[in-house]
Amino acid sequence: MLACFVKSSLKKSVVPIFFVKKEDFSAWLGKQNIIIKNWLTTTGFRGELGQVRLIPNQQGQLAQVVCIISDSKDFWAAGALPLSLPEGLYRFELSASDYLSFAIGWGLGAYQFVRYKKPNRLPAQVVLPKEIDQQHIHNIVESIYLVRTLINVPTDDMGPSELAAAAAHLAKQYKAAFKQIVGKELLKQGLASIYTVGRASDDAPRLLDMRWGKKKHPKVTLVGKGVCFDTGGLDIKTAAGMQLMKKDMGGAAHVLGLARMIMEAKLPVCLHVLIPAVENSVGGNAYRPGDIITSHKGITIEVGNTDAEGRVVLADALSVAVNEKPDLLIDMATLTGAARVALGTELPAVFSNQDRVVEDLTAHANQLIDPIWRLPLFGLYRDSLNSSIADINNNSADGYAGAITAGLFLKEFVPNEIPWLHFDLMAWNLKARPGRPQGGEAMALRALFGYLAARFG
Ligand SMILES: [Zn+2]
Repeated sequence: MLACFVKSSLKKSVVPIFFVKKEDFSAWLGKQNIIIKNWLTTTGFRGELGQVRLIPNQQGQLAQVVCIISDSKDFWAAGALPLSLPEGLYRFELSASDYLSFAIGWGLGAYQFVRYKKPNRLPAQVVLPKEIDQQHIHNIVESIYLVRTLINVPTDDMGPSELAAAAAHLAKQYKAAFKQIVGKELLKQGLASIYTVGRASDDAPRLLDMRWGKKKHPKVTLVGKGVCFDTGGLDIKTAAGMQLMKKDMGGAAHVLGLARMIMEAKLPVCLHVLIPAVENSVGGNAYRPGDIITSHKGITIEVGNTDAEGRVVLADALSVAVNEKPDLLIDMATLTGAARVALGTELPAVFSNQDRVVEDLTAHANQLIDPIWRLPLFGLYRDSLNSSIADINNNSADGYAGAITAGLFLKEFVPNEIPWLHFDLMAWNLKARPGRPQGGEAMALRALFGYLAARFG
């Protein structure tokens, strides 16, 4: 049980939290007793969106909390509470269906990254009534905590070997099979793209491979970019550009979080997770601009820029992934700054070769308030990746539509008949919002799990 939740027990006093829609505030206030009316009026409470007020009883003890929300889907409002309300026991005045989503918001808002700094308080606790699906709440919240923490841990403690250990630990928890192909062994198995990008790091490059579920079930394969730190390589980034680069394994963290959701919920799928885990370092043996790599698929890649390394390592992982013809292939990556230029940091870009899949997924994303936005795999731009001496260049010649050309690069490694979703996402909150603390963040995961559970569950 997470520290921010308690199972329903009525031994102690529990403070109710009233979530009142902004438009209903006047009517709600009209029904309250004179003490509450006076308290809210004299403390300047005007029922503005997101406003929260503690309300005492006549003995001056906390009696209830009021929180103004936009509508019944505004579950993020609950995310502002667990670390701002006094420590103690609370319950929501909500229907069972809204209780579930608000409890998820509450849980996500209670996250604290405590590995290197003691927290100055514990989260307030909310009671989870028996009639709501507690396992689902815990699954979503704990899996997203896993994603955030994997991203937040700095590279010295989350290099390729530590990321491998985290994946192995998850596999062990759920009795999944786990193996990894490490260092020069990658070359023996034709995985030169992964090896070449990661070879300059003291922590050897590797391909992590996790399998779970029964073979007879639909095959879902997840591929996550695990660039544990991205200096840019010899095309080195600026100091500012390198600041957040511990998060460049955010795609790997996402697929591990999604895998956890799937395994915890025992979705009847045959799950395969592939993570190319590398550090894009600078060193005497670093790969260089102009080098040509023969990828696992046999496609030769001219290195136009060593900072476009994510697509290079994903190329080999995708090539391995499609060998078994999955029913659905999903890759997730902090792939391009261009996707952030186009959509900002809060809206993950998704690309797909199948309209139906992305449309269904988008419906779940909208329903669950976990937004995504489709960008096109616009084929006309493929020629900007042309190379005169190799099959493809990893860097587009003109620099326009960088998120699309990165998607088109990956598309070379995915046969058209395999249903494929490619996510280009930030994996990081630049600033805190209710339920979404600053730092590593899971994006589109609730939407993806909702889609997978509806389709395969
Ligand atoms: Zn890079």
